[in-house]
Amino acid sequence: MHSLRDRFNRRFSYLRLSVTEVCNFRCEYCLPQGYRGRTRGFLELDEIRRLVTAFAQLGTRKLRLTGGEPSLRRDFLDIVRTVRGVPSIERLAMTTNAYRLARDADALKAAGMDAINISLDGLEAEQFRRITGDRRFDKVMAGIERALEVGFDRVKVNTVLLRGLNDGALEPFFEFVRERPISVRFIELMRTGDNQAYFEQRHVGGSLVREALLQAGWQAQARAATDGPAVEYAHPEYAGRIGIIAPYSPGFCDSCNRLRVTARGGLRLCLFGTGNANLRPLLARDDQLEELKAHIMLSLFDKGSAHRLHRGDFGDTPHLASTGG
Ligand code: SAM
Ligand code: SF4
Repeated sequence: MHSLRDRFNRRFSYLRLSVTEVCNFRCEYCLPQGYRGRTRGFLELDEIRRLVTAFAQLGTRKLRLTGGEPSLRRDFLDIVRTVRGVPSIERLAMTTNAYRLARDADALKAAGMDAINISLDGLEAEQFRRITGDRRFDKVMAGIERALEVGFDRVKVNTVLLRGLNDGALEPFFEFVRERPISVRFIELMRTGDNQAYFEQRHVGGSLVREALLQAGWQAQARAATDGPAVEYAHPEYAGRIGIIAPYSPGFCDSCNRLRVTARGGLRLCLFGTGNANLRPLLARDDQLEELKAHIMLSLFDKGSAHRLHRGDFGDTPHLASTGG
């Protein structure tokens, strides 16, 4: 079994696969006008199976399905069952806006989904509507509760930290995890091609959360080598945890363990990189597997040591819905 390594000896055991670019929300920082691109031509079920098989044979152990909004795919449960059946995939997760999770959670669990990340930027209906352009706050909250009831290994909530919108009221998020075994992870707003003005207005560093946590007696948890970029905090009186994902902090890329494939089959080496290696021509037939694996391994040599966000270079991602954030 090969293992995917880059020139900096980082190993890539985690793949994030976007299954659609389409989304039904209009998050202010992502798709403020809603999704306006092509709604067809995303990887088909057999292509997804071949792709995941190749990555699994190269050492991928964890797979996350994302988008756009992955649950908008009519064949999403088929996708889940298919990738779950690929040998060596040990953990299957998804990231969702949860608009239909209350309805789907049981079926997702039965199909083999292990873990769910839910995006939730506000804990109050009006704030939620303001940020996402969507009125289904109650449905999203019901989706979170259902995910807990169904017993996913881990339920995480992603909250993009937004100056003047949700950075002044961190306490309700802490309260949210007092009884619930959920990790709420605050993510620093990232600069993309489409969000310059918004970024300048709303970006706020994760240190704000860290200071609030330390003041309230939360403690940073030791991190395993395989952990992702979140620094997590725990507190004896709370069932859940609070995490911080700060891509603008030094050393963020040192532990990078992930690769991305876009919904049209582009291998994306860095969220903030430029261009991608088109894997699609090698996804047409089962007998292309070895060629596909060789192409993936070769492409990895182009991965740089770190992003260049500090120099104002955020790559060519227009918004994270296009790359599977
Ligand atoms: N639609 C799904 C969702 O929202 O969970 C999956 C795709 S979405 C692009 C994945 C994650 O990226 C979400 O948690 C979202 O909040 C986050 N995201 C999108 N744009 C971002 C940005 N500019 N900076 C930081 N996080 C962003
Ligand atoms: Fe859609 Fe997710 Fe982007 Fe919000 S963050 S617009 S839910 S893709």
